[in-house]
Amino acid sequence: MSDNKSWVTTTAFVAVPVLGFFSLLGVALLGGASNANACEPGTTSSFTVDPENVPTEPIAGFGGEQLKNAAIIMTAGQDMNLPDRDLGIAVMVAMGESSLKVLPYGDDAENPDGTPNTSIGLFQQQHWWGTEEERMDAYDSSIIFYEALEEVTGRASMEPTAVGNAVQGNLDPQHYASSWAPAVEVAEALSGGMIALDPADNGECSTTGDTPGDVTPGGWSAPTLGPVTSPYGDRGNLCTPAGCVPDFHTGSDWGSEACGAPIWAIRDGVVTKQYHDSAGGRGVYVDHGEGVEAMYIHMYDSGIFVKPGDQVTAGQHIAETGNTGFSSGCHLHLEIRVDGELVDAAAFLIAMGVELP
Ligand SMILES: [Zn+2]
Repeated sequence: MSDNKSWVTTTAFVAVPVLGFFSLLGVALLGGASNANACEPGTTSSFTVDPENVPTEPIAGFGGEQLKNAAIIMTAGQDMNLPDRDLGIAVMVAMGESSLKVLPYGDDAENPDGTPNTSIGLFQQQHWWGTEEERMDAYDSSIIFYEALEEVTGRASMEPTAVGNAVQGNLDPQHYASSWAPAVEVAEALSGGMIALDPADNGECSTTGDTPGDVTPGGWSAPTLGPVTSPYGDRGNLCTPAGCVPDFHTGSDWGSEACGAPIWAIRDGVVTKQYHDSAGGRGVYVDHGEGVEAMYIHMYDSGIFVKPGDQVTAGQHIAETGNTGFSSGCHLHLEIRVDGELVDAAAFLIAMGVELP
C-alpha cells in the first residue's frame, strides 16, 4: 500500500483504456522493429492448490489467512487457464495492495477529486470494479483482477510490476516491484513446487536479458522503440502557480508503449557521468566521440545498466524507459550536444541515417 493509493484507485478505470490505446500503438511499433523481443506467454502448469490446507509455517513472512488468500488467487487464475506468471503477478499485486488480506476499507477517506475512496478487498478495488460482495470475496475479486489483466497486451514482455500497474493504474509503475520476489516464493510453495517463476524477471525473456537495437552501417542506432512524442524546440509557455516561463524543449521525447522499453546507445561511446536532478530525474551522459555527447534521462535507478567509465557500443541495451523527474509517463528524453551546442536530437539521428519509428 502506498501514500498515493487514493489516486491509484481513482485512476484505475481510465488507466486500462489509455493503456489499450498505447498497446495498439505498440503492436505497430514492434512490427517495425526487427529486434523487438516479444516474450512467449509462458507456461500454464497443472497443479492443485487447496486454500483450506496451506502450510502452517509462514512463507516470505506471510502466514495463515494471507496464504489462504494467495491460494484462492492462484485457484482463480488456474480456473481461467492463465499462465503461471499471471498468477504470480496477481499474488504480487494483492501483497502490494492489502498484504494479502481482505480489507473492508481503503487507505484514505477521499480520492484527490474529493469523491469518497471506495477501495476494499484484496486488490483494493473501488466501486466501479464490482459489487461490494464481489470485491470483498477473495475468489470473485481475483477473477475481476484477472479479467482486466487479460486486456494488457504484450504483458509477457513487461516487468511484473509494470503489468500490475497497468491493471491498477498506480502513479508509480515500480509500486509492486518489491513484492515480486516474495510473491514468487509464495506462489511456488503453494503450487507444491509445480511452478517456477523468476524472482529477477524484468520482462525480458531472452536468456541474455538483452534486446539490442538495429545499428545502421554507419554505426548509429535509434535510442528506443517508441515514436517521438514531443519534439525538440519551442513549446510555448510553461505555467505554474508561480507564473509562466517560456518552455524550450532541450531534447526529443520518445514515448514508450510500456515502461521498461529498451533504451539503446545511439553510437559507440563512453559513459561519462550520472544525471540527477532536483525532481528525482535519473539518467546518464554518454560521450559518443567526435564532439557528440548525449544525455538519456527519466529512467529509474534500477533501469540503468551502465555506469560512468563503461564503454558502450551502438545499439547496446544500456537502460530502460522510466518516469523519474519532470515526467508524466514513461518515456525517454534524449538530448544531444555537438561540440557543446544543443541540437535537435531526432533530426540529428535522422541526418545520420537512423530510421526512427
Ligand atoms: Zn523531454
